[in-house]
Amino acid sequence: MIDSHCHLEMFGEEIPEIIKNASAAGITKILTIGSNIESIEETIRITEQYPMVYATVGIHPHETKSLNDEVLKKIFELSRHPKVVGIGEIGLDYHYEYSPRKVQQEAFILQLNLARDIGLPVVIHSREAFDDTISILKENNINKGVMHCFSGSLSQAKKAIKLGFFISISGVVTFKNAKKIKEVAKYVPDDYLMIETDAPYLAPEPMRGKRNEPAFLSYTAKALAELRGITIEDIDRITTLNANRLFKIENLPKGEIAYKIRNSLYLNVTNRCTNVCKFCIRFHTDYVKGHNLRLEREPSAKELIEAIGDPKKYKEIVFCGYGEPFLRLDLIKEVAKWVKENGGYVRVNTNGHGNMIHNRKILPELAGLIDAVSISLNAHDKETYNKICNPFKPDAYEEVIEFIKDAKKYIPSVQITVVDLKEVDIKKCEEIASSLDVKIKIRHLDEVG
Ligand code: SF4
Repeated sequence: MIDSHCHLEMFGEEIPEIIKNASAAGITKILTIGSNIESIEETIRITEQYPMVYATVGIHPHETKSLNDEVLKKIFELSRHPKVVGIGEIGLDYHYEYSPRKVQQEAFILQLNLARDIGLPVVIHSREAFDDTISILKENNINKGVMHCFSGSLSQAKKAIKLGFFISISGVVTFKNAKKIKEVAKYVPDDYLMIETDAPYLAPEPMRGKRNEPAFLSYTAKALAELRGITIEDIDRITTLNANRLFKIENLPKGEIAYKIRNSLYLNVTNRCTNVCKFCIRFHTDYVKGHNLRLEREPSAKELIEAIGDPKKYKEIVFCGYGEPFLRLDLIKEVAKWVKENGGYVRVNTNGHGNMIHNRKILPELAGLIDAVSISLNAHDKETYNKICNPFKPDAYEEVIEFIKDAKKYIPSVQITVVDLKEVDIKKCEEIASSLDVKIKIRHLDEVG
């Protein structure tokens, strides 16, 4: 896991121990964040001593009275250090107002322009100054950064995300009365989620009141995982990926053919699809829950079997990925047969076009190979389906309904899914599920995996 924001220089002689504790707790990288010109020098020295530590440089809003041409020049020089990955923390603090607002705003703009000119992301501190922060970011065309220790409302989080900013969640999310932050932490789409300690400040529960350190990041990760209904391992992967996407510390992962979410193993067999759904996440991102699903080429059955290893280790093996799995029917049959022979449980997530793709009824061929199928119905009628899903054939909706009826005959567990778009009549979809005698799952837009 990456602690995307802490202040290591404040630990003085204890730094070696703090780094040791962090490594023992599974922290692989630490970003130590500059606040004033003296601490920045120390920050850089720490990065040179510890391979796992990277830095950002900048003048905190509290300190902006000290920003002048000479300091700005120094920040520019330090920003070219190989372990400096961003400009920050910079921004506005109207809570303490240690520097006059006007001075803070001018310093913020100067540092934003520096970040843009040198192509580095920014780490934003904003306290009781959200509207001015967003206006200044917009006016200066800044869309690459992170809102550190986010403490705003859900609507403010949405505005920051719309601008392209990551939302970093701190240990505050573990506090019982932190309702607003919990709501934000639950909502932030995977693609925009980051995690931090802000050590030595803001120790999470159960360490609240003590001095914070990067090793305590796991408490925040645990709270986040519980709120979002996923595992700590998932939070680790998602937030590590996002820190790397923003700060470019490590290479991003290559397209994966098998990926784990919670205790299910998903198989990414193709990126092709017979629909072009308007909500499809693959048109906006390569990632699902921190996994890169953009394939360089489609995998073979042998590669998939090797990637699965022991199918009994997982609750289920799911043919899914970024595309329609039944485009590769023969491969599914081969791999599913092997999974069943080796004691695994098989599910397929499909758009229900299998019969149309192969010009025959395919489900009899899958009897005994598949335990469960999840079919995207996505609409209450043909017209809405065609508008939302843009299928490759105009009568696809009727075919999907026939596919569901057929699945009931050959697959033990059949479920249909619907995304809660405003043009979809969920009640009617529930009635369709009931008339077909299948379970229905309503998926929220932006909730994938
Ligand atoms: S059916 Fe699934 S993979 Fe295909 S376009 Fe729709 S959402 Fe995307």
